[in-house]
Amino acid sequence: MEHTKGYKRILVTSALPYANGPIHLGHLAGAYLPADIYVRYQRLKKRDVIYICGSDEHGVPITIAAEKTGVSPQEIVDEFHFRNKEAFARFGMSFDYYGRTSSPVHHKTSQAFFLKLHGQGVFKKKAEQQLYDPKAGMFLPDRYVKGECPQCGYAEAYGDQCEKCGTSLSPTELKNPVSALTSEKPQLKETEHWYIPLGHFQKQISDWIATRHGWKSNVLGQVKSWLSDGLADRAVTRDLSWGVDVPLPEAKGKVLYVWFDAPIGYISATKEWAEARGDPHLWKTYWQDAETKLVHFIGKDNIVFHCIMFPAMLMAHGDYVLPNNVPANEFLNLEGNKLSTSKNYAVWLEDYVEKFEVDPLRYYLATIAPETKDSDFAWQEYLTRNNSELADILGNFINRTLAFTNKQFNGKVPARSDLDDLDQMMLRAITKAPKEIGSAIEKVELRKALTVFMDVARTANKYFNDQEPWKTVRENPAKCATTINICLHTCNTLAVLMEPVLPFSAEKAWAMMGHDTDVHAQVWDGVAKIELPAGHQLGKTSILFRKMEEKEIQPEIERLQNIQAQLRGDVPVEETQEEMKISYEDFAKIQLRVAKVLAAEFVPKTDKLLKLHIQLGTERRQIVAGIAQKYSPEQVIGKKIIIVANLQPAKIRGIESNGMLLAAEDDNGNFSLLALDKEVNDGAAIR
Ligand SMILES: [Zn+2]
Repeated sequence: MEHTKGYKRILVTSALPYANGPIHLGHLAGAYLPADIYVRYQRLKKRDVIYICGSDEHGVPITIAAEKTGVSPQEIVDEFHFRNKEAFARFGMSFDYYGRTSSPVHHKTSQAFFLKLHGQGVFKKKAEQQLYDPKAGMFLPDRYVKGECPQCGYAEAYGDQCEKCGTSLSPTELKNPVSALTSEKPQLKETEHWYIPLGHFQKQISDWIATRHGWKSNVLGQVKSWLSDGLADRAVTRDLSWGVDVPLPEAKGKVLYVWFDAPIGYISATKEWAEARGDPHLWKTYWQDAETKLVHFIGKDNIVFHCIMFPAMLMAHGDYVLPNNVPANEFLNLEGNKLSTSKNYAVWLEDYVEKFEVDPLRYYLATIAPETKDSDFAWQEYLTRNNSELADILGNFINRTLAFTNKQFNGKVPARSDLDDLDQMMLRAITKAPKEIGSAIEKVELRKALTVFMDVARTANKYFNDQEPWKTVRENPAKCATTINICLHTCNTLAVLMEPVLPFSAEKAWAMMGHDTDVHAQVWDGVAKIELPAGHQLGKTSILFRKMEEKEIQPEIERLQNIQAQLRGDVPVEETQEEMKISYEDFAKIQLRVAKVLAAEFVPKTDKLLKLHIQLGTERRQIVAGIAQKYSPEQVIGKKIIIVANLQPAKIRGIESNGMLLAAEDDNGNFSLLALDKEVNDGAAIR
C-alpha cells in the first residue's frame, strides 16, 4: 500500500458544525468540501484514510437558541444534528463517522482528558468576580449579559462582543449590564475556575510551528501573531448547566468550556467509529501512532483553536499525535456581501439540494475555494460555470463520444490500430493527468486541480474536432475506430478523475462506460491504463450535465437582493455597516485630531486596556484604549496618535475615557496604531 511520505495512515477532520442552525455555502466552501475532495482522492490512491466529523452540541449559542424557542437544549441539538447530517449526506460528504458531542462516549472521553491534565497539575485554579443573576440563580456568560459597549457606547452590546464596533468583550467590561434572562441588574459574585496556562506551552508550540513546512501563509501568519503577543491563561471551565460536567466533586454546576471539549469530539467520534467496526481499540492507532498524518480542515475563525490551543492540550496530555497540517480557508461572500445567518442572507444547503443538482455546486465552490483570500459566490457565475464548463466542455466531450459510438459502432468499443501524432498527444495528456491533478489535491490547491482537470477535457474536445471522425468514418474507417477508441479511453479516465469533485456524475459516467464496478473503488494511479477491450459494450447513455436556464436561478438572486434591500432600508444602521454609505455632512461631524501620549499605564485587572494621558494642543485628556495586548505602555509613550475627539465621554472599568484612539487590524491579527507621515503638532485637526 502506498502512503504519503513517512505516514502509514491519514486522519482527516472537518470542524464540528454548531448544532444550532443549518449548514450554508460558506461552511461548505471553508471546512467541508475541500476535506471531502481530499479524502475521496486519498481513497482512490488506496491510502488508509478515515474522515471524522460531527455536531458540536454544547456552548452558549445553543442554550440561548433553546430559550428563544422555548424548548430544551437537547431538542435544539437533536433537530440540527440530524438535519445537518442529512444535508451533508445529500451533498455527497463522505464522512466515515459523523458523531455528536452530547454522546456519552464524548462526555466520558472529554472528562478523562480533563482529569489526566488535572492529575498532572497542568491547570491553575483561580477565583474571580463574575456577573451573577440572583433572580435566575445563575452566572451570566457571554450573551447572557447585555450592556453598553465600553469602546463605542452602543447600548445593546453582548457580554462577548459588541456587534456595532466588533470589539471582543468580557461580560464585566459592559457598562450598565443587564441580564438577558430577567433584565435584572447582575451582581458580582466570586466563582472559581480552572485555567490552562498556555504561556507554559509557548516555547513548545513555537518550536513545533517552526517545523511545519508547507502550511498556508494565512494560517502561519495568524499563529505567529498570537505567539508574538504571548499566550495567556485561558479558562477551561465555566458556570453553565449545559455541557460536559467538570468531573471534580468541588465543581458542581460547572462545565467544560466548549473550546476545550469540542476538539476532543474528533477523538470521541473516532472511538465510536472504531466501536461500530467491532474493533474498539482501533481509534488509538489513528490518534496515538506517530505514523498517522492528522489533517484538520477548518475556516479561518478556527485557526487559533486548532494550531495553538488543541495542540497545547495534546502536548500536555502526551499520548497523541499533533496535526500535520491545518489547511484553513478564508471566508466565502455571497453576491458581493458578507453572509449573515441571522439576516437569512445565506444559501442554505438543505434548500439548495431540494432545488438543484449537487455536482454543479461542488464544482463551482471548488473553483472559487477561498484558499488564499475571501472569495465570492454569485448565482450568475454558478450558472455560467455549469453551462460553459461542465456542460459545454466535460459533458459535451463524453456525450458526443458516446453518441458517436452508439451510432457508428453499435455502442461497442472499436479496435485501435496505428497511432498518429495527435493520438499520441491525447494519450500522453491523460497519462500525466492523474499525477498533476493529484499533486494539487495533495497540497489542497483545488482551484489548480480543477484547472488541470478541465484542460484535459478541453484537449479531448479539440482532439475529437481535429480528427474529424464524422469524415473518417467513411474515408478511413480504421483511423475513425482508433480516434473513437482513444476518446472512449479518455472518457473512462475522466470518469475516475472527476470522482473527488463530482462524485455523482462520476457514478453516472462510469455506468455509461459499461462498468458494473464501483467508480469510488477505482485506483487513481492506474486509471489511464485501464484497458477497454475492443467489443466492450457501453452502458445506456444519458446527458451528463444539463444546461441550466436563467429562470431557474432568478428567484434565488431576487431573494438575496430583497434581503439586501431590506437591510439597507428598514434596519438600524449598526447592522448594515458593511454596505452603509454616509454623507460628507455625517463624516464632518466626527472630529479627528492628533494627540501626543504623555503617560500610559495598564488598567489593573484587565489584560486588554491601557489608560493614556494625552495632549491635544493646550488641552490634556485621559482615554482608555483596548490595545494592551498589542502595545506596552513604553511603546506608546511619546507617540503621536489619532483620536476621535468628540466622542461622548464613557466610563470603562470605572475610568473616564474622553476620546477613542484609531488603529488598524487585518484578518491575520496584524495591528497598528495610525501614524503620521510627517511631524505635525498635537491638537492638529484631521480633514
Ligand atoms: Zn462597541
